[in-house]
Amino acid sequence: MTWTNYHNHCKYCDGVDEIETHVLHAIKEGVISLGFSSHSPVSFENQWSMKVEDMFNYLQDIQAAKEKYSEQIEIYKSLEIDFFPDQSGLIKKCTEDLNLDYSIGSVHFVDAFDDGSPWEIDGPLMTFEKGLEEVFNNNIRAVLERYFDYTIEMLENDCPTILGHVDKIKMQNHNKFFFSEQESWYQDLMKQTLEIAAKTGVIVEVNTRSLYKKRASETYPGELGLRLLKEFEIPICLNSDAHHPKEIIGDYKNTALLLRQVGFKELKVLKNNSWQAMSFDENGIHW
Ligand SMILES: [Zn+2]
Ligand SMILES: [Zn+2]
Repeated sequence: MTWTNYHNHCKYCDGVDEIETHVLHAIKEGVISLGFSSHSPVSFENQWSMKVEDMFNYLQDIQAAKEKYSEQIEIYKSLEIDFFPDQSGLIKKCTEDLNLDYSIGSVHFVDAFDDGSPWEIDGPLMTFEKGLEEVFNNNIRAVLERYFDYTIEMLENDCPTILGHVDKIKMQNHNKFFFSEQESWYQDLMKQTLEIAAKTGVIVEVNTRSLYKKRASETYPGELGLRLLKEFEIPICLNSDAHHPKEIIGDYKNTALLLRQVGFKELKVLKNNSWQAMSFDENGIHW
């Protein structure tokens, strides 16, 4: 089996292991092209992003692994960069300044509490409910409109190479019902967002973390998003958003099978430093 994965977190952010441990595990699992994407540093205290002072070592560790294992695997350097509306241009700037091979742009924060601390959409249920009540007056539709508005703003003004987990907010529905993906207003938001994505040339990831972490019954995006991606002919890649080496190809086989059933025939991969579309099936990419 031959796979790729461009969304990986290691000990430099909220992952647990060394870069080399991820690489060795990836090789064992048949991953032939691997990208590291630690959470890029942000301006506030938190437990999950990389520290500015660790950036040099992070990039150096990736480079060392790239050289050491060049016969077995292609290794690329990236960051998962948060979108904040008041920091327009950050994704492009980071990518250029740090000479990254590609970027992942993700929306995790849609507003802030009264004390100024940012409110994330993928935190624990209690934090989500607190923000929904205190910041959005329990108007879930307004939260979703903001979430997709920010995604569109990022795509239009500071477009990353890969759009991260486009509907991750649905993970909150797993513990408690907040909204239905069957509602026409929700489907319209997804449609508008992916229509814009189609114009930018962004690669939309199909992220399997929801499945192996049991946070949703479908990938990010799920069947609704996948059908729209197919309809709009948007390129996709398969990523696991691994935070542990054992998650590197988590739920890949069944997701690849589903993608084939939806009608996808190719995945975007980084091969010899360029993005290429390659055919695949449930047993892997036809490298
Ligand atoms: Zn993320
Ligand atoms: Zn991630």
